[in-house]
Amino acid sequence: MNVLEKANVLGYAGRYDSCGPKACEVEVNGGLGGIYYAKAEHKTCRLFKTLMDNNCAFDCKYCPNAHGCSTKKASYKPEELAGLFDYLHKQLKVDGLFLSSGIAGDPDKITERMIEAVSLLRGKYGFNGYVHFKVLPGTSYELIKQASELATRLSINIEAPNKAVLNELTSCKDYKIDILRRQAWISRFDLAGGQTTQMIINDLATDKDILRMVDWEYRNLNLSRVYFAAFRPVKGTPLENAEPGSLVRQNRLYNVDFLLRAYGYKIKEFDLVMGAGMLPRQDPKLALAQATFESPLDINEASFDELIRVPGVGPKTARKIVESKVKITKYEQLHELGGWVKRAKPFIEVGGKRQAMLDEF
Ligand code: SF4
Repeated sequence: MNVLEKANVLGYAGRYDSCGPKACEVEVNGGLGGIYYAKAEHKTCRLFKTLMDNNCAFDCKYCPNAHGCSTKKASYKPEELAGLFDYLHKQLKVDGLFLSSGIAGDPDKITERMIEAVSLLRGKYGFNGYVHFKVLPGTSYELIKQASELATRLSINIEAPNKAVLNELTSCKDYKIDILRRQAWISRFDLAGGQTTQMIINDLATDKDILRMVDWEYRNLNLSRVYFAAFRPVKGTPLENAEPGSLVRQNRLYNVDFLLRAYGYKIKEFDLVMGAGMLPRQDPKLALAQATFESPLDINEASFDELIRVPGVGPKTARKIVESKVKITKYEQLHELGGWVKRAKPFIEVGGKRQAMLDEF
């Protein structure tokens, strides 16, 4: 198999790792797979997303690369991958690398090859851009440390919110030792792009289970981001006939994740709007405001913490309102400060006016 054939097999095999909530694949050079538009360090870039090797001895039931699945197999030598990436980078086709791998045997052996490929990129080819390096479950501390010195971002996929759910998906990964312990090690390293992880969204766990674990990860392991991936059944895997995960659910989890990280909401607040541990289908911020606002808020008297709980008002607008030296007496002023007036109206009082009753919204 030549390098371009390997690029297509391993680029296709790598598509199940999320590299961003809105990442989408782009085709270049007459169909070379594995290139994605994704957000990296606050800017959109084209990531070359690939596996080093898609041979795997693990039995993850959702994965087409798992042991026993009949997917076409391929494996890069470190120099092949580094040389191909350098070629694509010099052709201005890609800006960064997202590198993961199947685990054919000892995770340290495959990680050594991944490290060698990235070392070549950094040294021989002088690439100093974005590298997202997937830590494989069970990799030794010493190798994770070496990877942290080469990569912009490290991640290990947690996949599930607890051990019981992970055990339903695979018999090969120990939740505490292979995943959480490795995440704790990664959290000790200084990485420009921080540490991220990915959680599969399926019927085995409630939103409450997922969000509790996400919150724990942010607080205890200092994660930069958690990515959610609605489960997609893949032909040829043991779960090929299972129901796909809901994209609406995935989006709601992203909404709450953003409210936790950017707005400072507390996870317990969402208990109010969860029925049987599941978020409502509507926007969680709106649902929470409808459940908690007893009367419209006087926008000129409200604190920052109160204002960011108003639908249509984000942290930037709330900050501008609080710091404004001029009283807000018209909806137009709120609009000028970046507020979404139509959404905010039922929850605020502006210039003595209440546009609509809360229960009419
Ligand atoms: S470890 Fe699991 S998810 Fe990763 S490649 Fe192997 S089977 Fe797939």
